[in-house]
Amino acid sequence: MNSIKELKEQLGYEEIGLDDTFTFHCTQCGKCCIHREDILLSPKDLFNIAKKFEITPKAALTQYCETYIGCNSRFPVVRLKPQGRIKRCPLLKNQKCMVHDVKPAVCAMFPIGRYLALPADGAFPENPEKLSVGYIFNNPECGDGSETHTVREWFHNFDIPVEDEYFFTWTKTQATLCKHLHFLEEHLSEKTMILIWNTILISLYLDYNITEDFQTKFQQNSDEILALIETMMTLNTPVSEKE
Ligand code: SF4
Ligand code: SF4
Repeated sequence: MNSIKELKEQLGYEEIGLDDTFTFHCTQCGKCCIHREDILLSPKDLFNIAKKFEITPKAALTQYCETYIGCNSRFPVVRLKPQGRIKRCPLLKNQKCMVHDVKPAVCAMFPIGRYLALPADGAFPENPEKLSVGYIFNNPECGDGSETHTVREWFHNFDIPVEDEYFFTWTKTQATLCKHLHFLEEHLSEKTMILIWNTILISLYLDYNITEDFQTKFQQNSDEILALIETMMTLNTPVSEKE
């Protein structure tokens, strides 16, 4: 048994196909919006929240989120900032989600999760068609189980495309930057790394105008930050700083 399969089984996840069915009906009890410290936002989630409240992504980040460097990924992580002893999501008001129509993908997809299965050599191909998207069903032990859905229909209902260009670019950008950040952190001072992490955060999460198209600007920001970090990787400077 390989470790990923073992992990999925330990966590109670089951693999599920796009046209397979699962039984779930949310009774909107709000219990999944408290005792939560794991609602991570992608740049598109933060943009959607900012647009909903007609504020800048920076204001949305400051008001509702906190950031840290991922323990294993060494990548800047943005999560909704839990409130008080019950660790309530800051977007839960009167037991209702304030951003229900644009809720973060992780909330919208629940109880389904999605991942990109990389080829055996682990390299990220340029062509998205070479990657297969996998889905998992996380038995939620909530709701009343009165509805049956396919994964395809579930995603459609929440306006999440099955052929999701954004998901591919975001996963690729994260995977490529994570690899480079591990290398850079071995050779650069903490002060320089903080500068690099903040540059990545600003570029991928904050540098948007909410009145303009998200995907176009996201693609441009991703290309630019990847080009910048890849240029850094070709310089000798990182190696010399700690010597
Ligand atoms: S997903 Fe489950 S816990 Fe969350 S509101 Fe719906 S029924 Fe309640
Ligand atoms: S964003 Fe909405 S659905 Fe997600 S945890 Fe917060 S209140 Fe609940």
